[in-house]
Amino acid sequence: MIIGITMLIISFIYLFLTGIMYYSKKRIKNIENKLYNFIIITTFFGIFLEIGCILLVPIMDKHSLLNEVVNRLYLVYIMTWITIFTKYVFAISFDNDKKFSIIVKNNIKKIDIGLLIIYITFVLGLIFMPLYYFYDGKYVYSYGPATNLLYIANFLVISLWAICVILNYKQVGYKKYIPLFTFIVGAFVNLFVRSVNPGILLITVTQTFITVMMYFTIENPDIRMIEQLNIARDQADRANQAKSDFLSSMSHEIRTPLNAIVGFSQALSEEDLPPQAKEEVKDVMMACDTLLDIVNGILDISKIEANKLEIVNTEYNFNLILEELVSLSKARLGEKPLDFRYSFSPDLPKYMYGDKLRVKQVILNLLTNAIKYTHEGYIDFKVNCVRKGDVCRLIISVQDSGIGIKQENIDKLFNRFERLDVEKNNTIEGTGLGLAITKKLIGLMGGQIVVQSVYGEGSKFTIALDQRIVDKPTDPNLERTQALDLSAIKNIDLTNKRILVVDDNKINLKVASRLLQDYHCIVDTLDSGIECVEKIKMGASYDLILMDDMMPKMSGTETFHKLQEIEGFNTPVISLTANAISGMREKYLAEGFSDYLSKPIDKTELNRVLNKFLG
Ligand code: ADP
Repeated sequence: MIIGITMLIISFIYLFLTGIMYYSKKRIKNIENKLYNFIIITTFFGIFLEIGCILLVPIMDKHSLLNEVVNRLYLVYIMTWITIFTKYVFAISFDNDKKFSIIVKNNIKKIDIGLLIIYITFVLGLIFMPLYYFYDGKYVYSYGPATNLLYIANFLVISLWAICVILNYKQVGYKKYIPLFTFIVGAFVNLFVRSVNPGILLITVTQTFITVMMYFTIENPDIRMIEQLNIARDQADRANQAKSDFLSSMSHEIRTPLNAIVGFSQALSEEDLPPQAKEEVKDVMMACDTLLDIVNGILDISKIEANKLEIVNTEYNFNLILEELVSLSKARLGEKPLDFRYSFSPDLPKYMYGDKLRVKQVILNLLTNAIKYTHEGYIDFKVNCVRKGDVCRLIISVQDSGIGIKQENIDKLFNRFERLDVEKNNTIEGTGLGLAITKKLIGLMGGQIVVQSVYGEGSKFTIALDQRIVDKPTDPNLERTQALDLSAIKNIDLTNKRILVVDDNKINLKVASRLLQDYHCIVDTLDSGIECVEKIKMGASYDLILMDDMMPKMSGTETFHKLQEIEGFNTPVISLTANAISGMREKYLAEGFSDYLSKPIDKTELNRVLNKFLG
């Protein structure tokens, strides 16, 4: 008796601790957890009932009502436990896509009802069928039809479990079935022990052991949660990747036809056209610029959202950037009667360390907006700095006397695709992406942007941005003092120069040829990398090659590397591609290309490249 009680108390402690562990954790609501919850509670009842059975023996007449009730309840408990466990075996066995599992899942309600009917029938049998006790003065144990019924029930469920295991072993794996195997082994051990020593009852102890064990084999709440989170994250990553891929190919696809529109419009605009036609060509070009801005903006914003936009820090010449910004702004002012003022503090460091392209992009966005949203008056562009050690806090402000922003709209200013005062601004081209990108970029660079504005009077955007001061740049090219005045570069005369354009798209070849026509050079075109390699191998020589990248069979990059292998080949090869997402220039330069031009071909950029290599 002492051994029995001690084992049950130990079982209780184990079960109690398992219960604490299990219930203190957040669980996912699935059938497995629900059933496990029942199993724990039922097992607690079992322990108490068995303790009751043992304790009642010496003090009660074995035929007393209480003894009868407790003993029969104990049988009911065992029946309940194995029924729930059977349901649990069903739940873990048929949770897969096998045809049979699907049939079971589709009919689970009917199966549950069947199980319930069998359970109730057996329970009624256990309560009402005769139950006899054997008492040898030391041990009491029960026998008779009621206990036989329980043996039958046990035999039935074990057969049922065996079927489940045989059918689903491969899908479910052995781990999940460990409690089940343990139960079967435990049942036989129990039978054996009882035959040797009828006083020792191991059923509840075995069931407790299995319940504790199940804690480790059921869908562990933590692991399952983590797994689900991982799956969700993987799915999100994949979706994001798909989005990025889509955007990059969309950018490529849109750029190719745009290249034709921009290229031919540019060529047309330089022709002698009737004034109205000239005006219309100009409009086409402006519309193309907007479209290109949209494509670039969407790419930037999606890269920022996918955390793929990297800030590429290098040493740079800040003076040059300021000069470029001024010259670009002046060009953008066009005919507008605006007083464009600028002042730069004399103690601005000349060289700094940061992402020069992004610094330029954010300031240019503010300047462009000021020009767009100001009809008369002035634009004031100021750059000051506060030095602290080797760090310089740039204070960049762009103030205008433009249309201003309503107070209630200030908060919406940096939202994506949010354009304010649309009725009033509908003649001004824009996407509503510029400021959203600007704010994100400044954030990524560790800076801040603030806006002050009075509606109808004007706005002031101020950026505070820390950059490291570079005393002596390591790159001697930065020493250049004069910014390249792009607009000053004119079409140079390239008579007798030979240029080869390689592109699989016929229209692109036509555009490039048309644009190069103005330089009076000899233009050859080829529509595949393979032909290009062959031609050069045959001895054809050129002064410059413009090479598309995305071509079938042999990409531009591959072609370029094949060309490099040809002895004596030293023609500059320019990558000319619609793959224009940020970072591409660096990628192509790293591949060894001499320079990079994006499609649609920008005439000033083309001028720059031709000047650089053939001028
Ligand atoms: P876009 O100019 O392409 O529409 P932005 O994100 O650059 O997009 O600007 C968002 C909106 O903020 C603009 O549509 C405009 O209504 C307003 N805005 C931006 N800058 C100014 C400014 N300097 N003056 C008045 N309104 C401005």
